Amino acid sequence: MADKDSVEKYLENNPQFAKEYFDKKVRAEALTAAFSGTVDVKDTASFKDVNAIQEAAIIFELVQELQKPGNMEQSMHKVLQRIALILQADRMGFFMCRGRNGIPELATSLFDVTPTSKYEANLVHPQSEIVFPLDIGIVGHTATTKKPQNVPDVTKNPKFSDFVDKQTGYSTKCMLTFPLVAEKECLGVIMALNKIGADAFTPEDEKLFHKYMNFAQVIMLQHYTAYMFNVESRRSQVLLWSASKVFEELTDIERQFHKALYTVRIYLNCERYSVGLLDMTKEKEFYDEWPVKLGDVEPYKGPKTPDGREVIFYKIIDYLLEGKEEIKVIPGPPADHWALVSGLPTYVAENGFICNMMNVAADDYFTFQKEAVDETGFVIKNVLSLPIVNKKEEIVGIATFFNRKDGKPFDEHDEQITEALTQFLGWSVLNCDTYDKLNRMEWRKDIAQEMLMYQSRCTKDELQSILNTNEKFGSEPEDCDQKEMYKLLELFRKATCPPANDVHGEDLYLFSFSDFPVTEFELIKCGIRMFFELGVVEKFKVPAETLTRWMYTVRKGYRAITYHNWRHGFNVGHTMFCLLQTGRLRKYYTDLDAFAMVAAAFCHDIDHRGTNNLYQTKSASPLARLHGSSILERHHLEYSKTLMAEESLNIFCNLQKRQFENVQHLFDVCIIATDLALYFKKRTMFQNIVNATEPMAEEKEAIAFVSNNPTRKEIIMAMMMTGCDLSAITKPWEVQSKVALMVAAEFWEQGDLERSVLDQQPIPMMDRNCAEQLPKMQCGFIDFVCSFVYKEFSRFHKEIQPMFDGLNNNRSHWNELAQVYEAKMKAIEEEKKKLEEAEAKKGKKYTASHLSEAEKCMIVGAYFMIASHVNSRRPIIVPCGTSPFFFFNLAGGGGGGGGGGGEGGKSKTCTIC
Ligand SMILES: [Zn+2]
Repeated sequence: MADKDSVEKYLENNPQFAKEYFDKKVRAEALTAAFSGTVDVKDTASFKDVNAIQEAAIIFELVQELQKPGNMEQSMHKVLQRIALILQADRMGFFMCRGRNGIPELATSLFDVTPTSKYEANLVHPQSEIVFPLDIGIVGHTATTKKPQNVPDVTKNPKFSDFVDKQTGYSTKCMLTFPLVAEKECLGVIMALNKIGADAFTPEDEKLFHKYMNFAQVIMLQHYTAYMFNVESRRSQVLLWSASKVFEELTDIERQFHKALYTVRIYLNCERYSVGLLDMTKEKEFYDEWPVKLGDVEPYKGPKTPDGREVIFYKIIDYLLEGKEEIKVIPGPPADHWALVSGLPTYVAENGFICNMMNVAADDYFTFQKEAVDETGFVIKNVLSLPIVNKKEEIVGIATFFNRKDGKPFDEHDEQITEALTQFLGWSVLNCDTYDKLNRMEWRKDIAQEMLMYQSRCTKDELQSILNTNEKFGSEPEDCDQKEMYKLLELFRKATCPPANDVHGEDLYLFSFSDFPVTEFELIKCGIRMFFELGVVEKFKVPAETLTRWMYTVRKGYRAITYHNWRHGFNVGHTMFCLLQTGRLRKYYTDLDAFAMVAAAFCHDIDHRGTNNLYQTKSASPLARLHGSSILERHHLEYSKTLMAEESLNIFCNLQKRQFENVQHLFDVCIIATDLALYFKKRTMFQNIVNATEPMAEEKEAIAFVSNNPTRKEIIMAMMMTGCDLSAITKPWEVQSKVALMVAAEFWEQGDLERSVLDQQPIPMMDRNCAEQLPKMQCGFIDFVCSFVYKEFSRFHKEIQPMFDGLNNNRSHWNELAQVYEAKMKAIEEEKKKLEEAEAKKGKKYTASHLSEAEKCMIVGAYFMIASHVNSRRPIIVPCGTSPFFFFNLAGGGGGGGGGGGEGGKSKTCTIC
């Protein structure tokens, strides 16, 4: 045992040893004291005091380091250096924990740290990271257990693995480790290796180490918080933006993906990414199967998607985000394209796995292109590849992300963010499918329209049958020059079309005009004639051949059915012409209005099928599925607009855009107005206009009252359409009696269909077994529907009186017939009564004969409306005796409730019955 003097002498002669001794021994004690908050220096002159002051300086330095923003590794390096010094550890190291592909792992971050080593030399470049799973070695054990370890002799510890030593050539003897933990997660591990001048770290070293770890822990937490904040904000941005882009509108898959991927590009934190789109065809064309079936070609044995498709990338979209941003689209990429050559996208398409690969150059399963992939000099380092799966669980594409921006491998957070994105992309495919279907439907519709046009369009020969340019000028109308066309118009006016006042003795200017003496072909010419009479052909520069073609095509658009055929279409157009001209209603309208109104009237029932709206609904016809209300009317309107859309048929071709839009609107109003169900909605409004203009002394005043108010103009226009549509009821008796039979015949045909197709009993109006009741039904129809229209129009313009007169004349004819029928029925009734009285006491039973005549009329009128107009659908079922009777709720129509021609619902008695 040496004495005090010799020790002192030894120390003085060996200053290096003295320094090292105090460094490791005394300083540690001083620090322990410093951390425990009890710096208790016993000998004021000792090294301990001096060292305590030095250690305070170290702590202060580290605290300062903590306040520096930014680089976690750099701060951590400083802490490790100081600990190495204090512990006399040969080396220090820092490992980061992360997850990839669902497996946690540790990666070297700082290595070989000594008190004097350079940060740059210790920082591990992502490409040279040593990565190992958590179940390897003491460090892995520390991360798993989240408990610090002190291993005095690694050779005696079964947990020790020489995995890292083998890679570095270092020889570990003893070690201290400490886990850096946030909540329940291990973020990293710090280790100290090999105690200098001793075999192991002492418990004191351990204590000191743990205390110093507080600094490391704070640094790590700071970094972790900042990183997670970044992750969360990226995640929310990606979700937010991709969601908004993906569901913004219907579009095709490529555009959909592109919009989403482009919008979120900055949040993806990578240098480049690509999307490979997969062919969705499941089955080959039969002719491609032949060579395989014949054995000429080997069946496909290559990779297939889980749902059995061959893996074929039909397009790659490549996004470059580094340097100059660029998007490359590679249709039909070759198999050796750099984005595919590794086989990774195919692997992902085959298995549906998420593949997160670091340091791909070193990978031997997938052979990525090692050199720059293109002229940009881009080299693949890390890759994250994910499948895009649609709702049907089919892989529609592969998204691959290259090189995280900080050079590190993609981690579990990157996986989660990109997975959320690809999930959205997958869902959006549903939208794309819908879009695709819609497109297909649109194209099918176009084709159907084209076919229809081919069938219904006026042919060259038909055009010639009216225009006759071949004979007159030796050329087709489109080859005629300006002069000839002018001449053509003149000829048209003078010779081609019959004179307005003598069409086989009929006058187009009279409400009583009958189409019976005129052939259907000639009616086309009459139609054209009326446009000339209106003066709209010249004014709106309607080419003669277009007008002819249009008129001819409208005629062909009407089906050859019993009543709603071309003759009906023509008559409605004609009555519109008469109301405007003869009835002098034109004064409220512009020339263009008049043009559109007559044209719309001609078209108003085009392509009618001889059955009413109720039948469309009951038979679930495609039309009923397409239109919710005014089913047929909307179809007539669409048909008319289709004609307008065809250039060679567009009589409004020389209008300005605004004018054309106005015409379209007038068509809407006019054609939809022919739905009788809407008639009751406009009755009172129309009556109010008539009431308002009646006391006006000056014509000017009435014109201003109507024409300055677009709504009043439209209401009158709509009522005019009703007046036109029902005008057959106002025609001379010999015309009306025939037309009424045609109407009835069409109804009976529908009744037959209801019986045979729908297996339903038709209402009496449509039941040919009730044909004898026709006169009575006509009376009801006149009283409940028609009378109001013509009475009010006659009150509005006395020029329209002939229509009302015609109506009343027909009313008395129908009534006469009805009375004959009634008398006959009465005789039968009396006969029956006698029989009933004889049988008697079998219980009371109501039959139609128990009703008053007025009630019968109401029922008939109501039946008519129900039959025609399912869409008003407001019948109230009133139990009357044991038979339910349908009544229409005519609420809202102030003048509509009663039967007496709209006299404010005053009377419910039918004056004639
Ligand atoms: Zn009609």
